[in-house]
Amino acid sequence: MNLFFASTNLHKIKEVEIILQTKLAHYKKGEEPFVEENGKTFFENALIKAKYFQNHLQHPVLCEDSGIVVPSLNGQPGIYSARYSGKESNDEKNRKKLLLDLLPLANRSAYYISTFIHFDGETIIESTGILWGSLCLEERGGNGFGYDPIFIPNGYDKTLSELGDEKKNQISHRKKALVSLRKKLSFF
Ligand code: IMP
Repeated sequence: MNLFFASTNLHKIKEVEIILQTKLAHYKKGEEPFVEENGKTFFENALIKAKYFQNHLQHPVLCEDSGIVVPSLNGQPGIYSARYSGKESNDEKNRKKLLLDLLPLANRSAYYISTFIHFDGETIIESTGILWGSLCLEERGGNGFGYDPIFIPNGYDKTLSELGDEKKNQISHRKKALVSLRKKLSFF
């Protein structure tokens, strides 16, 4: 069986498939059991998911927790990146809130972080990748998802959305995490 990636985010699934150059098994939308992500860190949330889904499937799983961290906002949105604008949040509302919150601040530095965990029921294998950049003043570009239209990676003058999928998958937090995860997974 293919590696099981316990995510229903089709953007993430596609990125991981391209980076690892393999087809992944995954839950279909609405099929995945609910698990409360009540950890205090990306690692804790990834581990909560990994333990829960491995037990549910009785099969090794790959899980990820990711988000964007803005040091001048005391680390927000952080682990709350997906729900930054509240209960009815979506990517567009989250971006709008973040741009508003940043208005009074001079320092617009931010980083994306991605923590993967592979868990086979016995051994936890973890890997984290970070991509530093800054947040621009308004949305630019139509590719990617989440905060990509407002995130400019360091060393570039375009947002990740403008840079496009190919470039994103060469430099992203997810790419960095998966390159080092792969080195730790003996079977892959
Ligand atoms: P998760 O599904 O709990 O890991 O939530 C991740 C959230 O962080 C997403 O909903 C996005 O808002 C944000 N995020 C994580 N990685 C990316 C990325 O590569 N691009 C844009 N937003 C991201």
